[in-house]
Amino acid sequence: MADSLIGVHALVWVGDWGAESRRLATESTAAAGYGLIEIPAFAPKEIDVEGTRRDLAAAGLACSLSLGLDHGTDINSEDVSCVERGRDTLLDALRLAQDLGAIYLGGVIFGALDRYAAPTTPRARANSVSVIRELAQEAANAGIPIGLEFVNRYESNLLNTARQTLDFIEDVGSENLYVHADAYHMNIEETDYRTPILECGERLGYVHVGESHRGYLGSGTIDFPEFFGALREINYVGPITFESFSSSVVDENLSNRLAIWRNLWSDSSDLAIHARTFIEAGMAGSSR
Ligand code: MN
Repeated sequence: MADSLIGVHALVWVGDWGAESRRLATESTAAAGYGLIEIPAFAPKEIDVEGTRRDLAAAGLACSLSLGLDHGTDINSEDVSCVERGRDTLLDALRLAQDLGAIYLGGVIFGALDRYAAPTTPRARANSVSVIRELAQEAANAGIPIGLEFVNRYESNLLNTARQTLDFIEDVGSENLYVHADAYHMNIEETDYRTPILECGERLGYVHVGESHRGYLGSGTIDFPEFFGALREINYVGPITFESFSSSVVDENLSNRLAIWRNLWSDSSDLAIHARTFIEAGMAGSSR
């Protein structure tokens, strides 16, 4: 299926979203042949709406928003004030998504994007379910799909697999809630790539393509023919975003929490063009 909108994470280009970085990121994304840019929205109120809209329009790009909560805004917590702060952040992010005309809002929005010292508890999980239910409902009214990105055990204690995410969505009970699958995290937690993607089926709403070391696609250990093959098998036509991180582009808010310590690449344009070509070939089913 060549129908998917192919995007790239802003951190391939820039570590912040100030005026200059914004322009560079949007222009470079379009020049590398992408139609979508994923903007990190960890501090949604700090993003310049007018400026971003202008730069997106000038580059002819759609945008998606992603974020992860932290331990101070964790809705997967028994601490009600923490849950309340997380709810506020998510509703701010939703307002930003509406203001920007974003096609998607997701990420580690069900809890903290960080290492936990203990497993989750039934009460903490119930708090998360309840806030996500409210967010998904509000977002449905705004026509914005919400995605839950399950991540590896060092970045969440709540959703580490597609199965857990499907169960969580079932508990929330919203039609506006989707699984967000990332090959990098699946590589750590799943038994294979095909089974979980087939289990998601139409509930799969967003895809991150990342290599096992988060560098150049095809230079790590991920079985991309199986991964793309599974996406083709379910006729996936949703957005696919390339995600890669290197210490050459640093956003302290994100790269430190993702443990990006090594320099895996330095030429963003070469990396991004290579990734787009790789994803297109993968989705077309041609060998690389
Ligand atoms: Mn991801």
